[in-house]
Formats: sequence, structure tokens, C-alpha cells
Amino acid sequence: MPDEGPLSPGELLDLDRRHVWHPYGPMPGTAEPLVVESAAGVRLRLAEPAFGQRELVDGMASWWSALHGYNHPVLNAAARDQLDRMSHVMFGGLTHEPAVRLATRLVGITPEPLRHVFLADSGSVSVEVAIKMCLQYWRSLGRPAKRRLLTWRGGYHGDTWHPMSVCDPDGGMHRLWSGALPRQIFAGAPPAGFDAPPEPGYAASLRELVATHAGELAAVIVEPVVQNAGGMRFHSPDYLRVLREACDEHDVLLVFDEIATGFGRTGGVLFAADHAGVAPDVMCVGKALTGGYLSMAATLCTPRVAEGISRGEVPVLAHGPTFMANPLAAAVAGASVDLLLAGDWAAEVKRIETGLRDGLAPAAELPGVRDVRVLGAIGVIQLDHRVEMAAATAAAVSRGVWLRPFGDLVYTMPPYVTDDADLALICGAACAAAEAG
Ligand SMILES: *Cc1c(COP(=O)(O)O)cnc(C)c1O
Repeated sequence: MPDEGPLSPGELLDLDRRHVWHPYGPMPGTAEPLVVESAAGVRLRLAEPAFGQRELVDGMASWWSALHGYNHPVLNAAARDQLDRMSHVMFGGLTHEPAVRLATRLVGITPEPLRHVFLADSGSVSVEVAIKMCLQYWRSLGRPAKRRLLTWRGGYHGDTWHPMSVCDPDGGMHRLWSGALPRQIFAGAPPAGFDAPPEPGYAASLRELVATHAGELAAVIVEPVVQNAGGMRFHSPDYLRVLREACDEHDVLLVFDEIATGFGRTGGVLFAADHAGVAPDVMCVGKALTGGYLSMAATLCTPRVAEGISRGEVPVLAHGPTFMANPLAAAVAGASVDLLLAGDWAAEVKRIETGLRDGLAPAAELPGVRDVRVLGAIGVIQLDHRVEMAAATAAAVSRGVWLRPFGDLVYTMPPYVTDDADLALICGAACAAAEAG
């Protein structure tokens, strides 16, 4: 490796392939990634043209996170200001304004009575913390048998151990681990369709499962309204009300994983729980929390959960990541949330929803397309076969758009600042990707 000066794209790719793991990839790598040099607004700038394109409109918002686009002056300023004060201090025995402000802000915008906040360093860790809170709550109350979880099929909650145990057991990426993971209880996947009238039979099956397993259940954990990485499926908010009632009736805690759905993504409401008008006992947020700048997530809980834990034999939550409440991430997260709330996010998401509906509609006519669906700033084309990923990605990139299909899906969740022209470009590329893939 040259000791001085930047790596050429060729050198960089060679070293990358030999040494660097990529998500869900083999080692050494086989697929060649694109080298990104910088990013601004909704555009990624490549080190070298790919399929004739030097800049790509990002249809993925860096996996749901870059709400305001890249290199945003307000978020940059927040990061710089904080960097000049301190980028990090430990959180044990110390506290600081960025964390306190952020936690208070989150309590203010999430459903009441979520009032306590654990600032974790990634989404998966925030789900681990949520699960630990629930199990410890019942232990503290002298009911250690309540240590299993119930979820519905088709979910995704992260890649660390306990979150994997509540991901879809068959279709998901974690099938390999069945037998090694804790065995949880699975309901069928929720019937599809945000606006579809709820199916009484399915609702009854949820109630029955909670009732049957109440003695061993610590919590029910679900992604509200949108199951993302488990298949990009939407369901009726009614099932969340059913779960809330069943959990209340049978003394089971309810966890909503809003890591993908939070901060307005599903349209009309800041959090998907608000579509149902119910509050969970524990809630996870992440991804868009820092506007896509840094890794941070949060687990919120109610006073009931916190007091329960604090009355136990070990009256503390035994969790404390080294980089807990990282001031730099917290400062940028605070600025990102403020920026979102200061603007008309609901109108922006509505505008994107309309653009996605119009722009993706032609895909419904393509051969091999099973379904086209849109909710808020989420657009999905589902094929009747696995997407040929290389061909689909190439089709999008050659039209100047970054998309990352998976399974049988070509999908987009663009930054909210994507203008109508770029949105049309994304939709055209998604249709082309569906056709090519
Ligand atoms: C992405 C995601 C996670 C995991 O978050 P990481 O930050 O990738 O660990 C968990 N739950 C849901 C619903 C997600 O979308």
C-alpha cells in the first residue's frame, strides 16, 4: 500500500476486496462495490464513473437514515461545534447537554408515557437493551419464568443475538442459526395492506397466542405498520391495538421497534405507533435519529418498566456501552430532530408519497411484477422471483440512481429533501431495475 497520498480507485478496491468485510458479504469479497468520494444533498459522488454516471441520486437514504440529505449545513455545524467542545466522554458518572437535550426531545415527541431513555450505539443494541429491560422487569417482580418473546413472522430486528431470534425464522437472513438461537414464539405474518380491513380471525389468533403463552412471555415485540428488511410489508394499525389489549389483559409487555418507521417515514405521523393511537411499554428508535450522520439509537421505556427494574434484587439496568450517549452523535441527532420538526415534514413526506405512487405505477404492468405498494416515503416493487441483483443495480446506476434491491424486492425510501425531478428519476430507475432484475 502506498504510504502517502490517496489510494487510486484501483488500489482501494483491491485492498477492500482482500481485507474489508461488507454487509452480508463473503471474505474475500466477490461483488465489486462502488467507491464513493463524497456526498451532498441527495447525491453520492463516485471516484470513477460507473455505467457512465459520476453522480448517483440516493434512493436508499443510506438505509433509511439520511432524512435531510448529505453534507447538510445545519448538521455539519452541529457536528463541528460539538467537536470543538468534546467528541466523547464516558457516560458513567458523567453527563452532558447533547445527551440530556436529545433524551428530553425524544420523550417530548414519542407516545406518552414513554419517559425514560437509554442511548445506545446502534439499532441492534437498542433492541438488545429493550429485551433486557423486559426480561429484567419480570425477574425483578419475582417472575423469572417470563423470559420468552412473541413476534409475528416476516420481521427484522437486527443482527445481534437476541434480535436475530425474533427475525423471521424462515425467510430471513438468520435461518442458519435456528437451533442455536433462543426459541421464541411466532404468530403468522400480519395480513398485508395498511388500509385493508383487519381480519378478525388473525386478530383472534394473536389474542389467543398471547393468552396461551402469558406465563412464559416477557414481551411481544413487533415493527409497527411496516415490516422492513423482512419483506417490506405494510399492515393495518388495528393489529397494534389488538396486541396492546392482549398484552394488558395478560400481563405481557409490548415493544415497538420503530428503528425504520420513526421520524415520519410512514407518512402523517412521526411514529408508526401513532397510526394506531397506542403506546408501547418499550420503544426503539435509530437509523434516521442522527439524520444519517453517526451511529446512535435509543430505547425508551415507561415509568412502570423503569420502576419495576429498580425494585428488583439487582436494582440497576446492567448495560453500559463504552460509547453510550456519544456527545458528537447526540449533538447531531438533536440538530436533526430539531431540523425535522422545524420544517413541514408531513407535507414533504406526503409529496414524496404522491410522487412514488405516480412514478412507480407503471411497474405494475411489467412482466414478473407481483405487487407495487407505497406508504409515506417508502416505495416497493415486489417481483414474483428473486431479483437478479447485479442486473437490477446496473439498470438503476446507468440511470444515475443508487438502489440496493434484496430478495424479491426493488424498493426506495428517499431522503425527504428529494425534489420532484430527482424523485421521478428514482422511480424511473426503480422500474428499470425491476424490469432488468
Ligand atoms: C435496521 C434495523 C435494526 C438494526 O439496526 P442497526 O443500527 O443496523 O443495528 C433493527 N430493527 C429494525 C426495524 C431495523 O430496521
